[in-house]
Amino acid sequence: MGEQRVTMNTGGEAVLGEAVVADFRASLGGQLLWAGEAGYEEARKVWNGMIDRHPALIARCAGAADVLRCVNFARAHHLLVAVRGGGHNVAGNAVCDGGLMIDLSGRKAVRVDPVRRTARAEPGLTWGEFDRETQAFGLATTGGQISTTGIAGVTLGGGWGWLGRKYGLACDNLLSLDIVTADGKLLTASASENEELFWGVRGGGGNFGVVTSFEYRLHPVGPVLGGIVAYPFAMAKEVLRRYRDLTRTAPDELAADAVLITMPDGTPVAGIAVCYCGPIAEGERVLRPLRAFGPPLMDQLGPTSYIAVQKMIDAFYPPGIQNYWKASFLQELSDEAIDTTIAYCAKLPSPMCHAVIEDQLGGAVSRVDPGVTAFNHRDVQYSFLSLGVCTDPAEAMPCMQWARALWEAMQPFSSGGVYVNYLGREADEGTERIRAAYGSEKYQRLVALKNTYDPSNLFRLNQNIKPTLTGEHR
Ligand SMILES: Cc1cc2nc3c(=O)[nH]c(=O)nc-3n(C[C@H](O)[C@H](O)[C@H](O)COP(=O)(O)OP(=O)(O)OC[C@H]3O[C@@H](n4cnc5c(N)ncnc54)[C@H](O)[C@@H]3O)c2cc1C
Repeated sequence: MGEQRVTMNTGGEAVLGEAVVADFRASLGGQLLWAGEAGYEEARKVWNGMIDRHPALIARCAGAADVLRCVNFARAHHLLVAVRGGGHNVAGNAVCDGGLMIDLSGRKAVRVDPVRRTARAEPGLTWGEFDRETQAFGLATTGGQISTTGIAGVTLGGGWGWLGRKYGLACDNLLSLDIVTADGKLLTASASENEELFWGVRGGGGNFGVVTSFEYRLHPVGPVLGGIVAYPFAMAKEVLRRYRDLTRTAPDELAADAVLITMPDGTPVAGIAVCYCGPIAEGERVLRPLRAFGPPLMDQLGPTSYIAVQKMIDAFYPPGIQNYWKASFLQELSDEAIDTTIAYCAKLPSPMCHAVIEDQLGGAVSRVDPGVTAFNHRDVQYSFLSLGVCTDPAEAMPCMQWARALWEAMQPFSSGGVYVNYLGREADEGTERIRAAYGSEKYQRLVALKNTYDPSNLFRLNQNIKPTLTGEHR
């Protein structure tokens, strides 16, 4: 133990004396780590290997009381704060350089109430861990499309996934949450308690406090019809057009992603990953066009468990490698947009770079009154992702350039908006893109909420809503 050099919330550095740090450590039910201690290196790693930050202190919280202690300590000492849920965010906002990382990744309790069809869940869970518990009762709620993403960041940014078109976003299924706010209060937010805060946390990200518990509505789910069908890359145009035809008229039960990607054996493919969460026979009828144009290279489509579908694309997104993403919503999936995507994916700088078109919106998501949550963009259907991915950091620059160039080329087809959870670092994206993610009208309302709950911008390591109150704190 010794004194700690720390980064402050408003920039600049300070030194925390040995006794201050020792008292803080002794106050915690969980562990406090700093550089050089066993566990520190592992605890500071997040999913995106491009992020390499060193917090001065990592508090592995044992529960809400520890979160409260961390928030009070950070506020008292003006520390830069990062909050970690699943640690999956591509921007790496779960970890900071020099400040305090409030690490909730060990908090994984779930309590399912099969009668009321609800689940109370802690913020360190991944969707795979959450689903394992709820599916034991034949239940599920909308989560991200892969099992390793954290429930916390996904839900706070909106949260779409295989069940979203049928049951709404993850945030639409949120009944309440417990949150420690910047002034050190533990509040419950729901439709009947702290209603404006409840509006803001459903799409406004981690801007308003540290969530210690989420309560979700569950639905009977499974088995489902799911899997990946892949064709040779040479057929990409036809595959993407068929994907468009399928998704334009798809029933709510169907969610589908189209991807131009290279398989681990080096074969470039045009693939479609689907989940149909209704009666299997009906799903087979709906998905028949996917198989009706020549023999696919790979056809995994079949009845399966929801848990299996949640894991079907995990292997394409391993932790610890270099990831640079650019995203936009599309106005529509025009022939020109399809041709542009194919042209760039035909010239990859590295085999793991790829493009994804997601059809995870529409359906029930579009029928929720847009004013009810801070999540924006309920009127769009397709999300587009250009992913510069590689294992070797030396290749990262060309991959980033490729991802940016494809994204630029797709801008004529963009709605102008972007999903807040797909944004990269603020320094790279710029504040305008953050506003575009929230939408200008909702951004103003979110700023008012930020002024109420976090006027000093203690929670700034996220897609940050800047408070407009005067003073030193901005
Ligand atoms: C491979 C991959 C697939 C993805 N697929 C989907 C998908 O299908 N659907 C979808 O909607 N999104 C998807 N995402 C995006 C995902 O929503 C974000 O990456 C999300 O932020 C991850 O949440 P997390 O808890 O794992 O992340 P973290 O990195 O831990 O946190 C993300 C943000 O939330 C804040 N935060 C975390 N926990 C808390 C908390 N308890 N209280 C307050 N703030 C908190 C953090 O400070 C940070 O700003 C995907 C991302 C990746 C990398």
